[in-house]
Amino acid sequence: MAKILVFVEHSNGKIKRSAFELLTAAKKSGATVTSVAVGAGSDTLSAELSKYGSSECLFVKSADFNLYNPELFTGALADVIKKTGANIVLASASGLGKDLFPRVAARLGAGIISDATELSINGEDVVVKKPVYSGKAFAKMGFEPSAIKIVLMRANQLPIAEAAGSTQSTEFSPSQVGLKTLIKEVVKGTSEKLDLTEANIIVSGGRGLKDAANFKLVTDLADVLGATAGASRAIVDAGWVSHGMQVGQTGKTVAPSLYIAIGISGAIQHLAGMSGSKVIVAINNDPNAPIFQKATYGIVGDAFEVVPKLIEEFKKVLHH
Ligand SMILES: Cc1cc2nc3c(=O)[nH]c(=O)nc-3n(C[C@H](O)[C@H](O)[C@H](O)COP(=O)(O)OP(=O)(O)OC[C@H]3O[C@@H](n4cnc5c(N)ncnc54)[C@H](O)[C@@H]3O)c2cc1C
Repeated sequence: MAKILVFVEHSNGKIKRSAFELLTAAKKSGATVTSVAVGAGSDTLSAELSKYGSSECLFVKSADFNLYNPELFTGALADVIKKTGANIVLASASGLGKDLFPRVAARLGAGIISDATELSINGEDVVVKKPVYSGKAFAKMGFEPSAIKIVLMRANQLPIAEAAGSTQSTEFSPSQVGLKTLIKEVVKGTSEKLDLTEANIIVSGGRGLKDAANFKLVTDLADVLGATAGASRAIVDAGWVSHGMQVGQTGKTVAPSLYIAIGISGAIQHLAGMSGSKVIVAINNDPNAPIFQKATYGIVGDAFEVVPKLIEEFKKVLHH
């Protein structure tokens, strides 16, 4: 019988959308579903998590878990997996997930597949699909049957549906570990917007904007749509925007419902980070730009003419 553990990422008690996707997939499989969350606010999540099928919600409340420390988290998660007897572990392919779970897998001798975009759980059998070669192809992958199977899913790939669970909430106290590194402080960026990897709508700009000041076109459109702003590497390297906004092979991998690319050529390294988007709109004055091969809708035109019109029209439509 499969026992699934879902690692719930949250920010001071605000659960990330990706956790609901994972719980929905876990519950749909018919397995017993336990969730685990750590840090400040983790003890307040059980009512919400149980609505998506978590039968037991474990939390690790200790203030030591308020900041991510790889050593501490690895020990705790390995402990939770052992003690719950989970044979399938689902987590998000976020920065945190991709740093933490390979360590957990090494600690437990578990199998791990990251960046999954499709997931099928049939009893204890887990099959995933994931992009390879910078998104040029997809691989279908499974696990050796007796292994603990860890899957890191990309956000915004799975549906969310409520399903009855119970509200059993249990504090979990991981074994003490002798830490060799201590996190003193984490200085956060100034952006209050939703992180790119969680965003449902992204508006990204590239070198076609010509000058850093013109990136305002991107942020203005993003503001009207309630979107998060992203960027190509060309303008990150030019110092127009911070690296945290870079989408692509050496930036973030995103999978929003809507991705609007403005003045971005569509180099393979950029496509690697955003080709999983559901709808792609490209605005580019070169009809032969490679981005149009991936775009759902293409607008061949000058960004400086097209984007202000879009902002105006969206304002009218969305205000009504
Ligand atoms: C190892 C490696 C890793 C990389 N990782 C990344 C990565 O993570 N992310 C990433 O983005 N890139 C990455 N790159 C860089 C990538 O190869 C491209 O150089 C980069 O994506 C180009 O950025 P761009 O599309 O903004 O600029 P350009 O390629 O210069 O494209 C600008 C586009 O704007 C259009 N344009 C010009 N004027 C206008 C206008 N007035 N209106 C509308 N359109 C206009 C042009 O037609 C053109 O298509 C990587 C490269 C390497 C080698």
